[in-house]
Amino acid sequence: MSIVIAIDGPAGSGKSTVSREVARRLGLEYLDTGATYRVGALYCLREGVDLTKIDDVTAMVATMNVQMRLDPSNPHVILDGEDVTALLHTDTISLVVSAVATNLDARAVLRDVQRRLIDASRERAGVVVEGRDITSVVAPDAEVRVLLTASEEVRLVRRTGDGADPATVRESVLGRDQKDSTVVQFHTAADGVVEIDTSDLTLDEVVDAVLTLAKEAGA
Ligand code: C5P
Repeated sequence: MSIVIAIDGPAGSGKSTVSREVARRLGLEYLDTGATYRVGALYCLREGVDLTKIDDVTAMVATMNVQMRLDPSNPHVILDGEDVTALLHTDTISLVVSAVATNLDARAVLRDVQRRLIDASRERAGVVVEGRDITSVVAPDAEVRVLLTASEEVRLVRRTGDGADPATVRESVLGRDQKDSTVVQFHTAADGVVEIDTSDLTLDEVVDAVLTLAKEAGA
């Protein structure tokens, strides 16, 4: 039996680390849907497309040649044959990605891409999918649906690495969430979605909580 585990949450909620670890422990694939938006933004920037032009951006994401490698120990995003994984989490992308995410036409294209990847994973062992609208829109039929939250303070601390500029971190966490919130609801759990506040939990505790839900669902 295959299983789909959907994990949503805002920036800094811990969902990437938790999702990858849960996937590793259960021998599942791992799909980072944020990467689909990020690679769309990167492609537009590279091709000189104005991110405010709804139709142009939609055409770009609809035609981009992207492959997602779903190995949780080594996830990769390939754009036109080039491994662009390391470029996707730079400030340059984090500060503009919401322009792609708030484009409803581009969202519809990327949602279909994500659903196809999930359907293909269902033919294998299954997948842990992380994002903002997975539990509610992309895969509401997932066997396990979790919303990870954390206080603003904790989320900012998690994203403030050595030497990070505080104003940039604030914008790329809280500013981005505010923009994303205009098109997706990821601060409160939809019906049937289990909310876990990670503010005072260790990574292991959050992973264990999700693993328990997965076991209950038959994983
Ligand atoms: O998860 P991550 O922070 O990498 O996501 C990058 C961006 O992609 C988010 O800020 C949001 O704009 C968009 N996103 C989305 N829906 C998802 C996943 C990500 O709108 N399911």
